[in-house]
Amino acid sequence: MRKTIIAGNWKMNKTVSETKEFLNELLPMIKDVNANVIIATPFTSLTVASELTKNSIVKIAAQNMGNRLKGAYTGEISPLMLKDIDVNYVIIGHSERREYYGDTDFHVNEKVKLALETKLIPILCIGEKLEEREANETKNVVKTQIVEGLKDVSKEDAKNVVIAYEPVWAIGTGKTATPEMAQDVHKYIRDLLADMYGQEVSDEISILYGGSMKPENVVELLNESDIDGGLIGGASLEAKSFAKLIEAGK
Ligand code: PGA
Repeated sequence: MRKTIIAGNWKMNKTVSETKEFLNELLPMIKDVNANVIIATPFTSLTVASELTKNSIVKIAAQNMGNRLKGAYTGEISPLMLKDIDVNYVIIGHSERREYYGDTDFHVNEKVKLALETKLIPILCIGEKLEEREANETKNVVKTQIVEGLKDVSKEDAKNVVIAYEPVWAIGTGKTATPEMAQDVHKYIRDLLADMYGQEVSDEISILYGGSMKPENVVELLNESDIDGGLIGGASLEAKSFAKLIEAGK
């Protein structure tokens, strides 16, 4: 059975004191909930977030990482530094990184492999832009991102990857893919992973949906058989709305 995962992606939001404030509000609200919860904070909040969530159901993620272990790479953060502060997950290849910072499938693949080597769980983000959907290219785009992003990743390691399907046109826009549209792509991804690694491995990989997921649409999205959770931006920034999403994902 795949776990349902509710993951918040704060993007470039929240200072250290805002992080403390958020967690002090959220943690009591979810203390009796049994769910898989991840929060991806900015680098500067990771330490305090991992300390405050130590005895809770919340696991902490970074939103990106460097593609080397150490050395002369100014401005980069090593996966070993993340491990050292009890970070368990790392988002890789978010569309905002691909769009504004030039992350290509090649970089994404380097980072996915390095995360797996260092025992961090990569959350590999993929998804088509509006013009690609309109040109009927969605499945080709997603296929390339998965095949290239997971190049040379073994069957054993593939079980430890989380995929997030995030149609770019739905991110931060308030436009959500309908449950049917999302399920159609999730099922395509599941079948592709089965071709690459076998059905058994594919059935173990959690595929999250991202793009304007919120308390009002979470239940119907999670009802779809291949949607195993959500990667949530805007609605994860406020403790009450995030708690509602967690409640739906239990
Ligand atoms: P959104 O962001 O929920 O604000 O659309 C999702 C994401 O970018 O991960």
